[in-house]
Amino acid sequence: MTEHIALSRAAGPMGTIARVAADPLEKREARDLTVSFEFFPPKTKKMEKALWSTISSLEAFSPDFVSVTYGAGGSTKHRTLGTVARITNETNIPAAAHLTCVDATKEEVNAVANGFWDAGVRHIVALRGDSPDGIGQAYTPTPGGYGYADDLIKGLKKLHDFEISVSAYPERHPESGNWNVELDNLRRKVDAGATRAITQFFFDADTFLKFQDRVADAGIDIPIVPGIMLQPNMNGLKRMADMCGVAVPSWYSDLFTGLDGDEKTREMLTATLSGELTSELYDRGVSHFHLYTLNRAELASAMARILGLHHRRA
Ligand SMILES: Cc1cc2nc3c(=O)[nH]c(=O)nc-3n(C[C@H](O)[C@H](O)[C@H](O)COP(=O)(O)OP(=O)(O)OC[C@H]3O[C@@H](n4cnc5c(N)ncnc54)[C@H](O)[C@@H]3O)c2cc1C
Repeated sequence: MTEHIALSRAAGPMGTIARVAADPLEKREARDLTVSFEFFPPKTKKMEKALWSTISSLEAFSPDFVSVTYGAGGSTKHRTLGTVARITNETNIPAAAHLTCVDATKEEVNAVANGFWDAGVRHIVALRGDSPDGIGQAYTPTPGGYGYADDLIKGLKKLHDFEISVSAYPERHPESGNWNVELDNLRRKVDAGATRAITQFFFDADTFLKFQDRVADAGIDIPIVPGIMLQPNMNGLKRMADMCGVAVPSWYSDLFTGLDGDEKTREMLTATLSGELTSELYDRGVSHFHLYTLNRAELASAMARILGLHHRRA
């Protein structure tokens, strides 16, 4: 941790961002820098309106794709379908639907996947999902269902020629007892047809880069896309991190101490820290970033600008 602070301070947070922003545009385009945005399906009309305003402002950054999450057990299946179908019909952005296999039979999952295909969706983020008893509770495959993400991918590929993205975990999935188990699982997902992995969120560039090296050393050859969490609410972030087995470093949470009632400063910190993280990753060769937007435009837009994507506006 101390080492990280020393490194960050040596570079200087704003110094790092300024360096990337000053990078010649041609250099970044040569690296084919891309971004994708993740949304969740809105629950109410008001949330739907807010999401559409977010999508129309982020469309200007020409994302590679946007993805819409899926409530494990199918709790959002109509809303996820409605959202990806509308993005497909009303924008030029390729939309990916997340799909989980927990708590559903193969027939039920196949029916949802067919619905996505019929709506013009060609890209699935294929996931197992968590136990219906809650994240972190013991998971048991549903009888007659797809047991794990690799089984789901095999089933999806039999249905249609979907493009498949999967999850990956720079700090290991909490149920993977060691790195061999983690990487064997990722390899099975690739063998089943996944062509991209999007990671769980993390806070240190080194956490991601070490993971990327482990994947390469294991001979797994697909792009590993860092998932960047844009959550300025520290209580919400810690809750989410606890559930997912992600460590929030003390240097990070310390910066938010005493700011519960000061949303503006928390947002500025989130933008600065995420900007520093993406800039460091960019400097070290990463060229696709997946932004967990929480359906809000401002922070995602700031990140896209730090990456220089505003220059691509038509
Ligand atoms: C980018 C991203 C997007 C996400 N989107 C959603 C979403 O939209 N909806 C949602 O509900 N959740 C989502 N999640 C969370 C995800 O569902 C959970 O992390 C879940 O616990 C694992 O799903 P998985 O696809 O990674 O599982 P898997 O890849 O199937 O692996 C889960 C665990 O099971 C182990 N395992 C695999 N196969 C076997 C086997 N045969 N026997 C025993 N153990 C095995 C693996 O080693 C691993 O520890 C997302 C996560 C990420 C990183």
